[in-house]
Amino acid sequence: MKPCAKRPKVILVPYPAQGHVTPMLKLASTLHSHGFDPVLVTPEFIHRRISPPVDRKTAEVITYVPIPDGSGATDGTSRDFFSVEKAMEDIMPVHLERLVSGLDVSDDGMALMVVDLLASYAIEVGNRCRVPTVGFWPAMLATYKLVTAIPELVREGHISDCGLPQKKSELRQKPTLTTHDLPWLIGPVNARQARFKFWTRTLHRSASLRWLLVNSFPEEEDEALIQCSIDHPMIIPIGPLTSPSPVTKNSSLWEEDDTCLTWLKNQEPNSVIYVSFGSWVSPMGRDQIANLAISLESTGRPFLWVLGPSWCEGLPHGFLERVRSKGRVVSWAPQVEVLQDGAVGCYLTHCGWNSTVEAVQCGRRMLCWPVAGDQFVNCKYIVESWRVGVRLGGFREREVENGVRQVMDDGEMGVRLAELKERMMTSKASSKAAANMAGFLEDLRRMAEDDSL
Ligand code: UDP
Repeated sequence: MKPCAKRPKVILVPYPAQGHVTPMLKLASTLHSHGFDPVLVTPEFIHRRISPPVDRKTAEVITYVPIPDGSGATDGTSRDFFSVEKAMEDIMPVHLERLVSGLDVSDDGMALMVVDLLASYAIEVGNRCRVPTVGFWPAMLATYKLVTAIPELVREGHISDCGLPQKKSELRQKPTLTTHDLPWLIGPVNARQARFKFWTRTLHRSASLRWLLVNSFPEEEDEALIQCSIDHPMIIPIGPLTSPSPVTKNSSLWEEDDTCLTWLKNQEPNSVIYVSFGSWVSPMGRDQIANLAISLESTGRPFLWVLGPSWCEGLPHGFLERVRSKGRVVSWAPQVEVLQDGAVGCYLTHCGWNSTVEAVQCGRRMLCWPVAGDQFVNCKYIVESWRVGVRLGGFREREVENGVRQVMDDGEMGVRLAELKERMMTSKASSKAAANMAGFLEDLRRMAEDDSL
C-alpha cells in the first residue's frame, strides 16, 4: 500500500441485510472522521433502498456504489439467506473485482477494504486485487468465538463434521451455552448443513486476514467465551458503533412509519410494550402471531408492534379494529426514536445485536424471544450474564403476562441496565474502543510506510 496524498479510499462491503448495513455505515462515518473517503458497495437490491440516504450528512461523506446481484428484480429487499449466498458466490465477485481494480491506487489513493465476514467472498477479491483487507464482525465477539471453535467442536465430538449437534452438550457456563445455541442451526437438517458449510467457508477465508474489527465493547473480551486455537486475525473491539447523535436516523431499507411517534407521545410513561423481531427473521407462522396478538391484547397494556404486511395475515379477525385505542401496528418503525421515548416500558425483541445495543443505549428492559442465528447467544448474555431482560416462555396469555410482569417489576433491572450502558458505551468504554481504532489505523499506516502490505 502506498501512502496517499489525498484522502485514502476505503471500500466497505457489508453483508446485504439491514442489521449489517447499519453498523457498516457507522463504521464508514468513523473512518471518514479519521481522514478516509468511504465507498459503500452493496448489491443493487440494497442500493436502491439506501440511496439517496435519508440523512444528508451521511450522503455528504459516503459514496454509495451498486454492483449487480443477478436478480434483475426491482421489487423490495426480501431475499432469503441462500439466494443471497448464491449471488455473493456466483455473481458479485466479478463485479466487485472490476470495481476495485478499476480504481487506480495512485490516482484514487485506495488504501483499504473492509469486509463483513458474512460477505467473505470479498476477502478473496481483496487478496486478488492486492488491497489490504480487514474483516468486520458486526455482532458480539462471543458469537465469532463460537464459530472459530468449529474445529474443536468437531474434534471433541460436540458436533458432527456437517455441523449437527451430536447431543445437547454444554459448551460453557455463565452464560450457559449449549450445542443448541450454535448460529447455523436454522430450519431443517439440509438447511443447517448448508449454513454450516457457509460458516466453515467463512472461517477458512478469514484466516488470511490480519485484523478483525469487532462491533462489540472492549470489556466483552474479558468475558471471553470458549478458547479456540485460531490466533488469526487479530481481534480489535471498536464498538458498539452507535450513531454520532442518538437521534441520527439509521439508514432504513424500508420506509419508517413516523406516526407511531405521535401515538407514543400520548401514552403514559413506562407503559408501552414495544414489539419487534428485526428485519431478517423468517415468518413465525400464523398461529404464533395469532397467539401473541391475543396475549398482547389481554395484558391490557398499550403496545406498539412492528409487523410486516405478510405477517399481518396471522392476526385474528377484527383484531386491529378492536385494539385501536390500546395498540398500534406498523410495518416498520423508526426504532431508535421509539426506544428513546419514555413511554416505552419494555421491548419484546428477537435479540438481534443492533437491537440489543439500541435497547441498552436507550435504557430499555428486554423481553427476549430469540429466533435464529446469533440471537440465542445474545439472549443468554442479556438474561443470564447482564440480567437486563427476561426470556419469554411462549406466546400464550399466561406466558406473556408473566414475562411482562417479571421484566417490569424487577426494581433492580434499571440499575443493571445503567451499569451495562456504562460498561458498553459511556466515556471509559468508548474511549477504549476509540483507542483500539486509532491503534489499528496507526498499525496500518506504519505498515504502509514500510510497504509491507
Ligand atoms: N429496525 C428499524 N425499524 C424496525 C425494526 C428494526 O429501524 O421497525 C432496525 C433496528 O433499529 C436495528 C435493525 O433494524 O438497527 C435490526 O438489526 P438487528 O441486528 O437487531 O436484527 P436483524 O434485523 O439483523 O435480525
